[in-house]
Amino acid sequence: MLALLGYPVAHSLSPQMHNAAFRKLGMNFVYLAFPVPPGSLRTAWQGLSTLGTVGANITIPHKEAAFSLADELTEEAKMAGAVNTLTFLDGRVRGANTDVEGFARALEEAGVAARGARALLFGAGGAARAVAVALLGQGAAEVHVANRTPERARELARALGERVHPLPLEEGAVKALAPRVSLVVNCTSLGMHPHPELAPWEDFTVFDPSTVVADVVYNPRRTRFLRRAAEAGLKTLDGTGMLVHQAAAAWRHWFGRPGPVEIFREVVEHCLPE
Ligand code: NAP
Repeated sequence: MLALLGYPVAHSLSPQMHNAAFRKLGMNFVYLAFPVPPGSLRTAWQGLSTLGTVGANITIPHKEAAFSLADELTEEAKMAGAVNTLTFLDGRVRGANTDVEGFARALEEAGVAARGARALLFGAGGAARAVAVALLGQGAAEVHVANRTPERARELARALGERVHPLPLEEGAVKALAPRVSLVVNCTSLGMHPHPELAPWEDFTVFDPSTVVADVVYNPRRTRFLRRAAEAGLKTLDGTGMLVHQAAAAWRHWFGRPGPVEIFREVVEHCLPE
């Protein structure tokens, strides 16, 4: 068995993606989603371990708690300060963060080069940390982080080092930086179902026409953020690439080989049409 622990979990596409892959590849596994209220992660985790579970994914709001509970951590999880994938190993639990690889692979697949890039991230939560770690790993020159709660952006910058800079989430500050960035990423939950009318930024005419605009939100796929960017003529990248690649990377931890991206993508295309 594989499991998803989060609260809520009903909206997640992970059970459908992984179970479709198990069926198509004839693997005798099942992936189940469990709603685990805040404060109950340790109990759920011990139950899974006792039952002989292979591994699990962790989602909102437990990624930081999972980081603290894991017996060992991958380098990416250490840098991101959050865990989204557990592997149960003879009484020990290894915590990994496959959102980092998920975003890096999504960029590569779209032909977006991060090396030497100057990036602007909206948001400073778990997704922003994973995106920032991915960009640093790919050689980005500067990552600027604008967040509603400025202290969280400052904390992210402190944790990730000198290439990461907090930026006030103010029109003037964003506009002053805008012409010099080549990649903009929405790492907030703004625009996610059931509030597709929201976006952290509206005016994309301030960016250079070669700027790539990405969103980690994948439901809906064409968020308001991406629609505004496309209207300004900018290239856009939706959150489904990160979603399928983080799932594929989790398989490497559980089964020693990457998961089938094409099967995951078929499920996503079916469940989230354009
Ligand atoms: P999180 O840790 O709770 O962080 C949420 C972020 O959104 C924070 O920066 C928060 O700002 C900001 N935010 C929330 N409401 C806001 C508002 N009304 N105005 C301005 N800012 C607001 O959540 P997360 O784990 O980073 O997840 C963020 C999004 O990423 C979710 O939609 C999640 O589904 C998505 N995600 C996608 C993938 C993928 O594979 N595509 C992977 C991981 C996450 P404050 O700090 O001020 O609260």
